[in-house]
Amino acid sequence: MSEMRYIPNKMKGKTPYDPISGSYSIRLDANESPYPIPAELLDRFCEALKEESLNRYPDPTCASVRNAFSSYYRVDPANVVVGNGSDELINLILNCFFDKGDKVGIATPEFSMYRFYAELAEDAVVFTEKDSTFSLDRFSAFAKENGCRAVIFSNPCNPTGAGFDKEEVLRFIRQTSCLCIIDEAYMDFWDQSILTLAPEFENVIVLRTLSKAFGAAGARIGFAVANPLLIRNLNVARSPYNVNSLSQRLATLLLENGDLCNHGKELGQRAKELQSRLTELFPDARVFPTCANFVFMETPNASELFRYLADCGIAVRLFGNSHLRICAGTEKEMDRLYETLTRFGTEDPS
Ligand code: PMP
Repeated sequence: MSEMRYIPNKMKGKTPYDPISGSYSIRLDANESPYPIPAELLDRFCEALKEESLNRYPDPTCASVRNAFSSYYRVDPANVVVGNGSDELINLILNCFFDKGDKVGIATPEFSMYRFYAELAEDAVVFTEKDSTFSLDRFSAFAKENGCRAVIFSNPCNPTGAGFDKEEVLRFIRQTSCLCIIDEAYMDFWDQSILTLAPEFENVIVLRTLSKAFGAAGARIGFAVANPLLIRNLNVARSPYNVNSLSQRLATLLLENGDLCNHGKELGQRAKELQSRLTELFPDARVFPTCANFVFMETPNASELFRYLADCGIAVRLFGNSHLRICAGTEKEMDRLYETLTRFGTEDPS
């Protein structure tokens, strides 16, 4: 099987996404919610499934999900597209809004899938670094100097947890001619969303997801909110039945009961506590301030800490050899994490 001629250049060197494997009693590696869907809603979901005609295709417009999203987040359902996770929408946008070679600006570190999908779409990705002088004003100047047609960034940022406040984001949007793809996957943990304003701009797409604060990562539901022209083109590009009927049912139910299901406030607060505890426990590390449900830290012994935690049954995410990202779990999980971290370097976990 050495017929590389069937593999295009843009695929060469790419590897399948490789999440952490193995079984861990505590999962703090994927920025998910630690909370299951409330039992009462799960019962209602199971009941609703009996009504579902699985011999039929799902609603291609996801009308009930869009309506529930719109009531919860106060946007017009006509300005919303639902995706099979926001991942699907990122892929779609980076494909359908650019011609081959169009430049897309990314400031690193950033969510790795932006680069992956942009390269697959044969966009020309140009990078700048989020160093200590980085700001959205700087990013805007960078995009202009480099002739970018678009920029994409997460706010709050995965992996650093840093957030740009609403005014800074709006100033950026107004001063750039780029299409601004603003990924608010973690905005339920913070309060600086520009979601409701997105349709007022000709150059903005805001992304959201039910995978984080709503605890529905397994259902794969994401959203794009933008003006009608951008939304129309996303609808042209997406596959007609991109969201299955089971996920549509569940997403509608979760959004209709948003106050019960959205754990953003509580988990955002817990991540702030995690930030303080890590700062106390590791005075030599650089612990990044967070606006999300996780904390990013730079420490020379990141690899040892990662292995130690894994040996103790706690999964976190390692970046290179020097950075760790740890996500907020339940109160009990955090107690165990802190107790385990306190013992780091003092004993053999086995
Ligand atoms: N955007 C960001 C910034 C993320 O961190 C993630 C998931 N890790 C996604 C999008 C994808 O989320 P979804 O589950 O909605 O595809």
